[in-house]
Amino acid sequence: MEEKIIETNSPEETFALARKMGEQAVQGEVYVLTGDLGAGKTVFTQGFAAGLAVTEPVNSPTFTILQVYEGGRCPLYHFDVYRIGDISEMEEIGYEDCFYGDGISLVEWGDLIEEILPEYYVKVTILREPEKGFDHRKIKIQKRGSL
Ligand code: ADP
Ligand code: MG
Repeated sequence: MEEKIIETNSPEETFALARKMGEQAVQGEVYVLTGDLGAGKTVFTQGFAAGLAVTEPVNSPTFTILQVYEGGRCPLYHFDVYRIGDISEMEEIGYEDCFYGDGISLVEWGDLIEEILPEYYVKVTILREPEKGFDHRKIKIQKRGSL
């Protein structure tokens, strides 16, 4: 399993890292974001969307699990599954068309739906390390499984 660790010291640095990953992302990929509330998953998503040339504003929808952005290089399916009660909600949304379609999926709190994650995905873990400063984040990027 490939693993990379990057440290950032501001939201802008996390945004820039994610933008670069968005630029390099390939259609059909699924990105799973994990980390506590306020870790920076949405900041990461915003940078990633910019890398896909999405111009619409991206934020964390409180009451919708899925937000679709069509304006970029390919569709971006932004999930935030924090409030999901049951996996059947993912089925109702039609997640399979996203995970196995032509766009790119990004799932905040994706570890909560582990049982339906595809064979291959990129896991991004954002960790705070308070002893290194308030704005410091350790970002772990792991490629899981195989295509
Ligand atoms: P999450 O989606 O994980 O709950 P958000 O992305 O909404 O978190 O919020 C992250 C918060 O942390 C923002 O207020 C952001 O400005 C702040 N922040 C501070 N340092 C960083 C950093 N290095 N990377 C990302 N966000 C940071
Ligand atoms: Mg969020």
